[in-house]
Amino acid sequence: MSAVLPGSIVNGQPATLGVMGGGQLGRMFVHAAQAMGYYTAVLDPDPASPAGLVSHHHIQTDYLDEQGLAQLMQRCTAITTEFENVPAPALLTLGAHRFVAPAADAVAIAQDRAAEKAHFVKCGVPVAPHAVIETEVQLAAVADDLLPGILKTARLGYDGKGQVRVKTRAELVAAWTEFKQVPCVLEKMLPLKDECSVIVARGRDGQCVHFPVQRNLHREGILAVTEVYEGAVPAALAQQAVAAAVAIANGLQYVGVLCVEFFVLEGGQLVVNEMAPRPHNSGHYTLNACDQSQFELQVRTLTGLPLTQPRQHSAAIMLNVLGDLWGLEGQSPDWDRVLALPGTHLHLYGKLSARKGRKMGHLNITAATPEAARAVALQACAVLAIEPF
Ligand code: ATP
Ligand code: MG
Repeated sequence: MSAVLPGSIVNGQPATLGVMGGGQLGRMFVHAAQAMGYYTAVLDPDPASPAGLVSHHHIQTDYLDEQGLAQLMQRCTAITTEFENVPAPALLTLGAHRFVAPAADAVAIAQDRAAEKAHFVKCGVPVAPHAVIETEVQLAAVADDLLPGILKTARLGYDGKGQVRVKTRAELVAAWTEFKQVPCVLEKMLPLKDECSVIVARGRDGQCVHFPVQRNLHREGILAVTEVYEGAVPAALAQQAVAAAVAIANGLQYVGVLCVEFFVLEGGQLVVNEMAPRPHNSGHYTLNACDQSQFELQVRTLTGLPLTQPRQHSAAIMLNVLGDLWGLEGQSPDWDRVLALPGTHLHLYGKLSARKGRKMGHLNITAATPEAARAVALQACAVLAIEPF
């Protein structure tokens, strides 16, 4: 299959790329695709979805709506996804007629924590000790050693939703009942020193490129800060993380951008946490600190364009901008004071109502040195009333 060239005419229409889902990741994909000259189409039921607002075409139907999917196929030469909970059957339908990346089977594995962990193990990458709980018998058979632990629903969790910390067997039973006994994974609570992630892009020909390894700080289960510069993650760990992520992508015959999240344990060991079959919040710094962004690589993998290894040219810190920063009457933060700081790049997603924990945007800070980036980031935190890190 030949590449979908930017600015070309395909079947009498400008080459158009589709995306399932209209959130902020879709919006930034649309921006990258349009910058290269592609037309775009977004399928998302929400009339005010961040990506739908900026796309050439916005198909406002449910993800499984046959007419919606048909319209998307009629418009697009190739289709990607921006959130992992797009129903796999929708991707299968699209994949029967159009090039779809990532493919439905890879997305289906990432949608299910149990299948995902099994895939990591198959690739020889260490995972947290865990047990799959789908039945009362499996619940009763859980080893004592897994407590204290975290019970996570196998499907549909994000930003710490769908998980509870459990210290005792009684708490475990109560938590599973609370989750209405849906399939879950119980993970042993590990002593974390740090968290990191790596983003790889794998092309149709199997070629893999990657970004530097990111160091991530989560607060209340939500990513708060990402730091990327020489030394943010020890070199030996970073090498291991990249090798693991490449093995995971190869094992899936993956095409697209894939983010793999890791824990670094107190003893220094690297343990894989989960993967996202798409660009990731921890990769947003690439928009300003690298010569190609994760969204540009998503476009290239989708269209079959060549991949070249991206290069980070500035030390970077990303601060997530959550709805918590807006005033009670919806007043926006003091962006004029933040943007007076050198090397600050604001990205807001066009969401009209701010809620606690809602991802409204992010602030990238770039500088010549890690120390300078950190100094500006701390000043920005002070203006925004974000807890310093
Ligand atoms: P995301 O928004 O990244 O998809 P999620 O809801 O899928 O989040 P996880 O990544 O599984 O959740 O967990 C969220 C955070 O909780 C982790 O980043 C980590 O800080 C903490 N955590 C999760 N599992 C464990 C564990 N086994 N031991 C210690 N801490 C953990
Ligand atoms: Mg996570």
